[in-house]
Amino acid sequence: MKFPSQLWRTYIFICCISMLTAGLMVYFKWQNVLSETFTELQYANSLVFSSSQAMFSQKETLLRIMGERLLELGSLKKPDDAQTLIDQLLSSNPELAGFGLADTSGQLILTSFNIDRSKLPNLLNQEESAKTFKEALQTDRIVVGHTYFMKALNQWIIPLRERITDDKGRVYAVMTTGLKINDINSPWNKKNLPNNIELSIIREDFYRLYSSHAEPDKYPQAYEKAIDPLLVKEFSKQLIKQTGKTFNNLKEGNINLQIFSIDILNRHSVGIISYNKNYRFYVITFKPINLLIKQMITPVIWIFSLIFVFNLSLYFLFKHNSQLQKKAEDRLKFQAEHDQLTQLPNRYFLNRIFPKWSEEQKAYAILFIDLNNFKTANDLYGHSVGDQILIEVAARIKTAFPDSLHIRQGGDEFTILLTHQESEQAIDKCKQFLYALKYPIRINELVFSIGASIGIARYPQDGINIEELLRKADITMYDAKNQTSNISLFSKKLDEISKRRSLLEKELEHAIRLNELSMVYQPQVDAKNHQVIGVESLLRWNNATLGFVPPDEFIPIAETTGLIHSIGQFVLNTSIREMLSIHKQLYRDTDKSQTLRLSVNISVQQLLNKEFYNSIFSLISQHDTNQIQLMFEVTENLFIEDIEMAKSVLTQLQQHNIGISLDDFGTGYSSLSVLSQLPINELKIDKSFVDDILIDHHDLMLIQNIISIGKSMEIQVLAEGVEDIEQIEMLKDSGCDLYQGYYFAKPMNKDDLLEYLAGKICE
Ligand code: C2E
Ligand code: CA
Ligand code: CA
Repeated sequence: MKFPSQLWRTYIFICCISMLTAGLMVYFKWQNVLSETFTELQYANSLVFSSSQAMFSQKETLLRIMGERLLELGSLKKPDDAQTLIDQLLSSNPELAGFGLADTSGQLILTSFNIDRSKLPNLLNQEESAKTFKEALQTDRIVVGHTYFMKALNQWIIPLRERITDDKGRVYAVMTTGLKINDINSPWNKKNLPNNIELSIIREDFYRLYSSHAEPDKYPQAYEKAIDPLLVKEFSKQLIKQTGKTFNNLKEGNINLQIFSIDILNRHSVGIISYNKNYRFYVITFKPINLLIKQMITPVIWIFSLIFVFNLSLYFLFKHNSQLQKKAEDRLKFQAEHDQLTQLPNRYFLNRIFPKWSEEQKAYAILFIDLNNFKTANDLYGHSVGDQILIEVAARIKTAFPDSLHIRQGGDEFTILLTHQESEQAIDKCKQFLYALKYPIRINELVFSIGASIGIARYPQDGINIEELLRKADITMYDAKNQTSNISLFSKKLDEISKRRSLLEKELEHAIRLNELSMVYQPQVDAKNHQVIGVESLLRWNNATLGFVPPDEFIPIAETTGLIHSIGQFVLNTSIREMLSIHKQLYRDTDKSQTLRLSVNISVQQLLNKEFYNSIFSLISQHDTNQIQLMFEVTENLFIEDIEMAKSVLTQLQQHNIGISLDDFGTGYSSLSVLSQLPINELKIDKSFVDDILIDHHDLMLIQNIISIGKSMEIQVLAEGVEDIEQIEMLKDSGCDLYQGYYFAKPMNKDDLLEYLAGKICE
């Protein structure tokens, strides 16, 4: 399962919070509805309470006045006089159903006109009336009976009884009247109750006087008996549990209590219960919870709709954001895996895609391409031009190698993964590409023709993993730089060369510290009299494991690794020190000493390094220039790049009395015009020309040319690699000034040189 992103986790969190908020809102709304309902019920309860109290006390007063009048009239004896009074009472109090006057034995003596007295039994004989009748005999207060259906009147009534006492306090008679339950003016009438509020009036002995939700007409059985004691018990338990109060507490204090309970219709309800002490009944106002819930429906719908709409909008917002985020991520991923400039994939892309890509290939070739002289163009014309060249090269790579993977390795290096290629096919494609690459690239006013070198390594024969193949294609590319075709296929030999190179690199690092380096010196002689005028110092490296390593092999490595600076320093220090000591010993016993020339090979990297000058100048200031004349042998590579810079470098050296010899002259491309601008003292004809001077006419011509150039510019010419007398003859005829070669002497260590020079002086 994919774990949702941070963004979606935030969304889910907000959703949960909003649902929780919705839940809380519903909860608070419910509390609000409940409290409003309780307030409403409370109000209704006190309303009913006080109006019932008023009603009963009014009836009590009415009956008392009535009783006094009936006593005055002696009603028991003269019922006819009283009859009018009773009938008047009834007609002026329509809420009363009838009136009766019974003697203390319960026998009805007088009844209102609407009652047939003969049909009525003795009140003490009837269970419903006996209890209250007896009660009425005992108390001055009005006694409220329990609701029943009075057949004689065909009505549901509540009987009210009150005794009449004479002036001596003896009970004279008992008045009985009935309150019409359904009377329109009754405080209990549903019409007088606030909307939806139900009402129950329950007598102290749990007889129901009236229940709005169980009206006598519809639920007569609710009035026949007291409420089931089990139910009462249960209610009492609930009362204690919910309010901590008992019925007795309720009866004693003037309090009302909130309660949740179940009504006779089995509905869960909330209610307020209070107790009327005077007339001993409970007033219960209540509302079924269903109604409260109904009240909740609209707000709940609102709340959840709002939350839903909120979450939905948020969802779209988050979705939009997540899409933006994904786009940004895709863009970042693309940027990370592609080269900004050429839009070609880079190494990271290769690393990711390679395992899958290679699975689908049986055989493939990796081409490592490096542009020739790109650095020069870049330095000369600026990076924007360089960038445009790279863009164009990338485009040409794509066209030349369709259906392949093209990677920009960095700088001017590209890698191509070619599918299903035989070596010949791969080479052909490379040739076509190099041909297409040569086609001029126009940038502003400039025109470039770009060359490149390509190294090819093949899967599976040359290697099986990408690192190995890339490394091999890379070393092969270096070989390609030396090939005329500029294309090279990986071979075991190249691998060996490269491995030896790494070994040399490793060993060379410690060469100075391990004392493995030493200097030898090869004499240079004057052409006229073959007298030694000086020496060229040459470096030797004798390594414990590798043996003697030729400088041709290790100097280029020292140059690429940067070791040339410390090695060059060693060369200068050692050569100067040793030559000074040789000079001192040579001329120890004579006063006419001759200055010896010391030619030291200096790499271009050294000349371009500022620190080199500081150390060099302090070094020369320490020795006597009458003993040693210092000469630097430099190659043309120095001014290929920047002629102005070369000029300033060489001038600086000359100002410090250091001569400049142009080494390997003739192998490079230096033109006359370039030479004339530089402060050069000597041209050194490369050994390769001297070698063939006798057999190759062109080489002879070239040497003669060099010598005449030298003459015209007043620069002396030295021929190196002179091995036999015939060569000397030829060189002498051409006007060469100095010689150096095995014919005269091989390079030798300082002791041999001393001996050699001592011999020469003595001649
Ligand atoms: P190079 O400066 O052209 O030095 C001349 C090379 O030709 C030397 O080889 C020398 O021994 C050799 N040689 C001279 N005369 C003859 C001859 O008559 N016959 C033959 N067969 N060879 C002759 P070496 O000493 O092996 O030096 C090779 C190259 O290594 C030098 O070429 C120079 O470029 C470089 N090198 C040597 N020592 C140093 C050094 O101290 N610093 C720097 N930067 N490069 C050095
Ligand atoms: Ca040299
Ligand atoms: Ca040379």
